[in-house]
Amino acid sequence: MVGVFLCLEGDDMTDRKAAQGSAKEYRTATKLVRGGTRRSQFNETSEAIYINSGFVYDSAEQAAGRFKGENEGFIYSRYANPTLSMFEERMILLEEGAEAARATASGMAAVNGALMSQLKAGDHVVAPKALFGSCLYIIETILPRFGINITLIDGTDIDQWKNALTEKTACVFFETPSNPSLEIMDIAAISDLAHKVGAKVIVDNVFATPVLQHPLSLGADIVVYSATKHIDGQGRCLGGIILGSEEFVEDTLAPYLKHTGPALSPFNAWTLLKGLETLDLRVQKHCDNAEKVAAFLASHPAVAKVIYPGLESHPQHALAKAQMSRGGSLIAFEIAGNQEDTFAFINGLSLIDISNNLGDAKSLLTHPTTTTHSSVSDATKLELGITESMVRLSVGLEDADDLIDDLGYALNRKAG
Ligand SMILES: *Cc1c(COP(=O)(O)O)cnc(C)c1O
Repeated sequence: MVGVFLCLEGDDMTDRKAAQGSAKEYRTATKLVRGGTRRSQFNETSEAIYINSGFVYDSAEQAAGRFKGENEGFIYSRYANPTLSMFEERMILLEEGAEAARATASGMAAVNGALMSQLKAGDHVVAPKALFGSCLYIIETILPRFGINITLIDGTDIDQWKNALTEKTACVFFETPSNPSLEIMDIAAISDLAHKVGAKVIVDNVFATPVLQHPLSLGADIVVYSATKHIDGQGRCLGGIILGSEEFVEDTLAPYLKHTGPALSPFNAWTLLKGLETLDLRVQKHCDNAEKVAAFLASHPAVAKVIYPGLESHPQHALAKAQMSRGGSLIAFEIAGNQEDTFAFINGLSLIDISNNLGDAKSLLTHPTTTTHSSVSDATKLELGITESMVRLSVGLEDADDLIDDLGYALNRKAG
């Protein structure tokens, strides 16, 4: 078929592998626009949305064969769907080292699926305290209810990983950069230590995006995304995806997802496919803008502290540079003053929106301690540097000078 990289249905596995092999040769921008595209008999340009729940069979024998796994093809959209398969294939091509993937209804469904599909009572999990609120909730509150032991550490301290890992450790889970304090975890060093005890390494790569960082190439086993963030990047839908080895995805993850049902809507999968077409362009522009904004904030007297992995002042700048190609779109900073001053600054913004989402075309600013991280204990917040004067800015795609004018106006107003 002309113009199609991958044609899963009807082809045997050898053809599928061959197609995937040649598509892997293309450069990132090409993969993002064309990877996984699969045209129907109508030869549409843009990918079609297969918004159906079920599929029909030519014969009873074909239906029986499909359930036995003897012939390729779709059965039911909770198991697989053509629009979802296109999104998954495009992500596999993008994510260096990934052999297989499954999309999910949200980023949290991806985090939950990656963990719950492989854990059992008696297992042990190690994770940093610096996590997205809901990730922390799964690890700290849900897993122990099922007899899974957990150890939460300072993930930037490699000795704490060494001390926490045991023969019982089945999984380690971390975000890098972390939300919201932008701590950097050493993916290669942590993976080495985890593999010595036979633990699987799951990386939540949302802040770095698949454009800036490749955890599987650095030794991780599984990567998860909230596709809601930069992959959609335009505030339109929720989505998630889990990527890893064929063995993990097909034998461990797929049965869990198939039978528990956190399936992504085909319409959302299509939205995410469209998002991927511009992901590289958008992420580069996000980074251009974030670099300018971070430099401006660092020079402003009403800002007490700026945390941005791309700035030399970041405590782990060297590590960030080694494992990320650029600093990303998120900046954490502290207003010189108390919560009242910080709220005055936030309320003084007119262009940048107050919102807890991130990775969006629109610049969004949030006050983590009273919103996304309000359920985190005061002690943990203190350790993570989530203070009353800390804000998190997701730098969007507007003109950087307009963002700087808006921030400057609000900072000066607060100072006056
Ligand atoms: C947003 C986010 C999630 C959860 O994703 P949803 O799509 O909102 O469910 C998980 N991890 C990180 C780091 C996030 O930023």
